[in-house]
Amino acid sequence: MKIICIGRNYADHAKEMNNPLPKVPVFFMKPESSIVINNNPFFLPDFSGEIHYEAEIILRIIRLGKNIEKQFAHRYYQEVGIGIDFTARDLQRECIKEGQPWEIAKAFDGSAVLSKFIKKEKLPDPDAINFQLDLNGKTVQKGNTKDLIFSFDDIITYVSKFTTLKMGDLIFTGTPAGVGPVKINDHLVGSVEGQVLLDFWVK
Ligand code: MG
Repeated sequence: MKIICIGRNYADHAKEMNNPLPKVPVFFMKPESSIVINNNPFFLPDFSGEIHYEAEIILRIIRLGKNIEKQFAHRYYQEVGIGIDFTARDLQRECIKEGQPWEIAKAFDGSAVLSKFIKKEKLPDPDAINFQLDLNGKTVQKGNTKDLIFSFDDIITYVSKFTTLKMGDLIFTGTPAGVGPVKINDHLVGSVEGQVLLDFWVK
């Protein structure tokens, strides 16, 4: 399986990073070895001095697809979760400066924290999903997927032009404003429509 992540998909986050708004979805990948599940702790790696959380709604792909038409894209996922796209911001800045790929900043072990998943039918509005991240009891990110620059269906359509989507693949759909650093003993809680789906510690 693979993990596809969309960058700069909320205007408020693109702004806080001083990035222009993308004209097409920007995507990159993380390997399977980056996954953390079951609320296990995230271990701070020693190669970065600036690991940032990015809370994102995640889709789980349920069928094989290539060149998926937008009108059918909604059939390719049934459940959503919340995840953290952990990012070594210091390394990412270096990569961007040098025009290099982002893997050392984005694809390291532990960089894809996943919640449990819930059926999209259980959500009040699958096209306007409220989610938030609390850090040590304080809300640091609040998003609604109606503010996505590229919708879930846009992402599935675009990504599947380039790479076949397979059952079990995950898509991190982008983070809203409010990203920031984590340190040892931080407590992160992610919720979707007020329901806590993710609750873990930084070690
Ligand atoms: Mg991200």
